[in-house]
Amino acid sequence: MLIDVAAAGVCGTELHFLDGLLTPARTPITLGHEVAGVVAEVGEAVEDLAVGDRVAVHYLHACGRCRWCRVGDDHLCDAPLGFLAFATDGGFAEQIVVPASATVPVPHGLDLASAAALCCSGTTALHAVDVAGVAAGAAAVVYGTGGVGLALVQVLREAGARPIAVARNPERLALARELGAETTVNAATEDVAAVIREATGGAGADVVFELVGTRETSAAALASLGKRGTLVYVGYSFDRVEIDPLSLVVPEQRIVTSVGNRRSELVDALDLAARGRLVTRVTEHPLSDAGRVLDDLRAGRVVGRAVLMP
Ligand SMILES: [Zn+2]
Ligand SMILES: [Zn+2]
Repeated sequence: MLIDVAAAGVCGTELHFLDGLLTPARTPITLGHEVAGVVAEVGEAVEDLAVGDRVAVHYLHACGRCRWCRVGDDHLCDAPLGFLAFATDGGFAEQIVVPASATVPVPHGLDLASAAALCCSGTTALHAVDVAGVAAGAAAVVYGTGGVGLALVQVLREAGARPIAVARNPERLALARELGAETTVNAATEDVAAVIREATGGAGADVVFELVGTRETSAAALASLGKRGTLVYVGYSFDRVEIDPLSLVVPEQRIVTSVGNRRSELVDALDLAARGRLVTRVTEHPLSDAGRVLDDLRAGRVVGRAVLMP
């Protein structure tokens, strides 16, 4: 299916490619794995979508047949038909060709720029909360308030948890509070673990979502965790992290990981957003400004999600 790209989100993963932390299957390759647009052409076998329909694209075009796809974990697909920016060209372009099965209709009332940003931020947040198994009332730390972090705050709120947002940028922390964070911690000026212990009556957090993944943030995340607490790695960096098994064993803590998201989570994220339950702060930029936007993202100057519009 040929899609006229309306918007493509600029994600931290883009920087991981540019820095060499992630290596695409081939180069050159077009970046951009958060894509929404309008159907321009459909193949003969496509029955449920027509030219002019508004769609969001799931980044991983799953095979639908492997053991993972069969149980709905299509984000772990063994034989993907496509994988935007990793193996096939992404959405920093005017048009993109994807299998119709990778697209999800965008509900009425939701703009395509927000839909694009939700393809990774909202969806990844939904997946991470599912992996962590967050209970109502849980003290849940969101360590990092980029696009995924701000979505996580809202998804946790929906789940009845008590979100605590940690970041170094006061503007982002203010936005996190506006979107539902009960407590915010400025990692540049405050002792993260001490503030979280105090905010939880000394118990520590039930779950910490690690969206940064450096040695420093990992240490603070572990020090913030309470008994039976779960540390969820979503973010990563070049850093290696030292783990002291004893300090995990005694309080029965867990470390789990969450990668990407299922196609069904894109359906859910778009639905939540269309109902006003998941807000994405989007700033729109022309595609030709991609270099500058990436510089802004690296410098921590982007608040919410930047999207490129061809
Ligand atoms: Zn992304
Ligand atoms: Zn598969």
